[in-house]
Amino acid sequence: MIRTRFAPSPNGPLHLGHAYAAMVAHDLARAQGGEFRLRIEDIDGERSRPEFTEEFFRDLEWLGLGWDGEAGFQSRRLHLYVEAAERLKAMGLLYPCRCTRAEIAAAATRMGPDGPVYPGTCRHQAVDPQGAAWRLDVARALDLAGPLEWRDERAGPQPAAPAIFGDVVLLRKELPASYHLAATLDDAADGITLVTRGMDLFPASHVHRLLQALLGLPVPVWHHHPLLVEPDGRKLAKRRGSPSLGDRRRAGEDGKAIVEALRQGRFPAGISLGTGVDLSA
Ligand code: GLU
Repeated sequence: MIRTRFAPSPNGPLHLGHAYAAMVAHDLARAQGGEFRLRIEDIDGERSRPEFTEEFFRDLEWLGLGWDGEAGFQSRRLHLYVEAAERLKAMGLLYPCRCTRAEIAAAATRMGPDGPVYPGTCRHQAVDPQGAAWRLDVARALDLAGPLEWRDERAGPQPAAPAIFGDVVLLRKELPASYHLAATLDDAADGITLVTRGMDLFPASHVHRLLQALLGLPVPVWHHHPLLVEPDGRKLAKRRGSPSLGDRRRAGEDGKAIVEALRQGRFPAGISLGTGVDLSA
């Protein structure tokens, strides 16, 4: 059975781009008699606020995008992340790093999907692990895992190329896991068969595929959908004035009609489905 998910982070209100993402995940599941799950990505206790989560529940109901089962919370799964990281450490695949963003930017020789690529400064150094971040030795991990492939429903088969990110952080200084580790483990634990999310996260799937191989996790299919963009091609964001779904709900708008318009490809003035994300990674 197909199972999809919508996985918002409660660090701000949802806007129309989120409604589109939730609709895609919901409709793909429903079209095949599958399940649509909701996961609250609240691993970052500093930035996550429970009041946003409450709003998410109301917004999704108002949009007519009901989810199956109980909503999942990353903050209740921390043990899973720590345990997986310990396994990767025991395999000799993680190393501590204390470099700052500024140091990385100064030393980087190339750009990756998230900005300057960490050049591996601490890989072969004795770094005090106390309070350090832990990075994945990607070259070593790839040696162990061998060549990997993953499949996106829209873009087709992809040779996994996690090295585009350099040695990614899996355990953050102040958190029990990074997005990459937590999302990969959650999708496996939730039995997600079709990982539905925006094209902005397409490159992340290279890393997630590698983590699945290292940790012996099931391999889903992915569906990266186009993002709603503003006239300048940038994705919608609350800070640039996209009204929140909560505000529209409170103003008495019809949430189901909003979703129906998105389904039919009718977007508000100036907003369109972006096509500009480079698939070649
Ligand atoms: N929590 C992420 C976000 O809100 C989505 C992550 C995912 O779908 O894998 O952008």
